[in-house]
Amino acid sequence: MASSGSDDARIGAGAAERDRPRVVVLGGGFGGIGAARQLKSADVDVTLVDRHDYHTFQPLLYQVATDLLEMSACGHPLRDLFHEHPNVTVHQASVSEIDLDGREVRFADMAPLTYDYLVLGLGAGVNFFGAEGAEQHAFPMYTLADALRLREHILGRWEAADRDPALVEDGAVTVVVVGGGPTGIESAGALAELYRSNFAEDFPGIPQAKARIVLVEAGPTLLSMFHEDIREYTQKTLEERGVEILLGETVASIDATRVTLKSGTVIDAHTLVWGAGLKASAIAASLGVELQRGGRVPVGPDLSIAGHPEVFAVGDVAWITDTKTGDVLPQLGSVALQAGERAGENIARLVAGKDAEPFVYHDKGTMATIGRFAAVVQTRGGHTLTGRTASLAWGAVHLALLSTGEDRAKAVVDWTWAGFTHERSGRISVRTDQA
Ligand SMILES: Cc1cc2nc3c(=O)[nH]c(=O)nc-3n(C[C@H](O)[C@H](O)[C@H](O)COP(=O)(O)OP(=O)(O)OC[C@H]3O[C@@H](n4cnc5c(N)ncnc54)[C@H](O)[C@@H]3O)c2cc1C
Repeated sequence: MASSGSDDARIGAGAAERDRPRVVVLGGGFGGIGAARQLKSADVDVTLVDRHDYHTFQPLLYQVATDLLEMSACGHPLRDLFHEHPNVTVHQASVSEIDLDGREVRFADMAPLTYDYLVLGLGAGVNFFGAEGAEQHAFPMYTLADALRLREHILGRWEAADRDPALVEDGAVTVVVVGGGPTGIESAGALAELYRSNFAEDFPGIPQAKARIVLVEAGPTLLSMFHEDIREYTQKTLEERGVEILLGETVASIDATRVTLKSGTVIDAHTLVWGAGLKASAIAASLGVELQRGGRVPVGPDLSIAGHPEVFAVGDVAWITDTKTGDVLPQLGSVALQAGERAGENIARLVAGKDAEPFVYHDKGTMATIGRFAAVVQTRGGHTLTGRTASLAWGAVHLALLSTGEDRAKAVVDWTWAGFTHERSGRISVRTDQA
């Protein structure tokens, strides 16, 4: 198939291979990586573009923010992932627009790319649901930069409170976590361990009673997508670990030191972690197709966009309906990875003159970890696991999702060390603007 692009736009294509179909993969998350890897043996040239030069492992960001894992366990160089893929070129650039009819992708910082096949895997970002002051003061948890920013901020607040007791009274070491879904639960649980184990010893002068962790959830229960037994276990375990839980409450506004709830309650807190709500990449709006809830791009059973069999959307940016159950699939790493692989496989099939096949999701269960030896798992069949066994299942599933054996090894070493010792060695703040 001849490329529809002009020569000047052909960044990264090998000169000898220019008349092979060109596949452009947007996003080096689970979806994009899954698609690009699947095309290793296909007779195509693949260009993968991400605004970062690394793949972000979002499920463990809260562990970076709370010093349980080092940054490099959650951010892996994208180029490194494709050393064994001679037909893949990686570029770091920011997508600004997609022209479906012209089969062209435009960037803020790179010449346009044309394509024969496109995989859209740009993911999703935070949705503050209009909470006043959230853009300026809340700490979301979607990127590595978010995790590092939160880590620095928390360390900074504890050090400042240690120097000035008035700050303790002002809520400097109190954290509000918004959202009783997996992200909020995991963040609150990890913060509780950091506070009650490590900081309790690091800062003996700061009373733990003043170091509040308050989890705010708008609905009547935590982890609403899980069974009753899991919800009860989660609430009890978090409370035992010193987390205060406010159900049926919504954050109305935030400033640097106060969080105001819709009920009128004001919490003195210098930190608010936002773990609720997702909004698909804004680039989806440039497609000109009617978007679904959360700005997601609707796709057919083979993951292509209506009227564009050459364009596939995968992962958090896509609205994918389960072919078996008819339910819309959740925004999860495992869905994104499997959908990316299916999109890659479908492109390989189309290039080889075969038909695309429908995506079938293999569900390994929904899970969340609350802290050391405490996790929850619910299988598709409705079976539930809690505690140490669930923790092991959670670890196995997340290790499988990590991109390389090296990343897995790093995570296992850090988890094992922390599991036995409670130790988190990364609790230092290095300022590059100082000697
Ligand atoms: C805190 C947290 C915890 C989670 N925990 C779990 C869990 O335990 N288990 C699980 O299965 N899932 C979990 N998830 C969900 C999972 O991480 C996502 O579903 C998954 O990352 C989606 O993959 P994706 O490829 O669609 O998007 P992403 O992984 O978000 O990748 C999108 C990529 O696109 C790039 N990008 C975005 N915009 C642009 C642009 N304009 N130009 C260029 N590049 C761009 C980004 O840099 C990114 O690399 C969690 C998510 C979060 C935030």
